Amino acid sequence: MFITLEGIEGSGKTTQMRTIARWLTTAGRDFLTTREPGGTPIGTQIRSVLLNPENRDLAPMAELLLYVADRVQHLETAVRPALAAGKVVVCDRYFDATLVYQGYARGLDRDTIHELHRLACGGLTPDLTLLLDLEPGAGLARAWRRIHADTAHAQESRFEKEQLDFHQRVRAGYLDLAGLQPQRFVIIDAALDETAVGVQIEAALAAHVTG
Ligand code: ATP
Ligand code: C5P
Ligand code: MG
Repeated sequence: MFITLEGIEGSGKTTQMRTIARWLTTAGRDFLTTREPGGTPIGTQIRSVLLNPENRDLAPMAELLLYVADRVQHLETAVRPALAAGKVVVCDRYFDATLVYQGYARGLDRDTIHELHRLACGGLTPDLTLLLDLEPGAGLARAWRRIHADTAHAQESRFEKEQLDFHQRVRAGYLDLAGLQPQRFVIIDAALDETAVGVQIEAALAAHVTG
């Protein structure tokens, strides 16, 4: 089973990975937790190009292709082998992030993004996507607090580059996708405290993780 976590910056995806790992451990499931971009050694190098603040002039199509390159490497060397071994794979961001950031928010053609996904990744679609929905002002405020506490994250922050309306388009894009595929998406109210967000995630896992 393939589960993805999506949402704007600061919505709590990485934090809630711990809740998911705990739940799957208790349920006795073999699992892999991973992330994009940067879930493999080569992907880590691609991530540093993507998130380097000096690469402000990275062309949007070049950026898209780097996300896809990261994903191909990740799928071939980590995700597909784990799925084939019967593991539950939980990934912090995946294809929906590409559709939303590079498509809805940055304006690249969404049919092209879908077509690239089909060609490069066999169109692999998650079985379940947990969308941590949060108003962008709140997400960015949280993320800023984290940046001030964590200089490693500050190095790769893109926040200076991107305005609130960009993140509003990201949020709206995610909600649009969730509306189009209600059987795959579960929308989580990420404005609540960490424990209350975790309770919603556990309920979604209990309802969807079978076998
Ligand atoms: P990014 O997309 O930038 O990686 P993220 O979605 O992974 O962000 P986290 O890193 O998990 O978000 O959380 C951002 C910050 O907000 C962290 O400092 C975290 O401790 C804090 N945080 C996480 N969940 C909550 C919550 N429910 N309420 C308040 N603060 C939270
Ligand atoms: O979630 P994570 O911290 O790994 O994401 C790193 C950054 O990559 C985020 O700030 C997000 O803006 C950016 N990103 C993007 N397009 C994607 C995925 C992530 O711009 N498809
Ligand atoms: Mg994160």
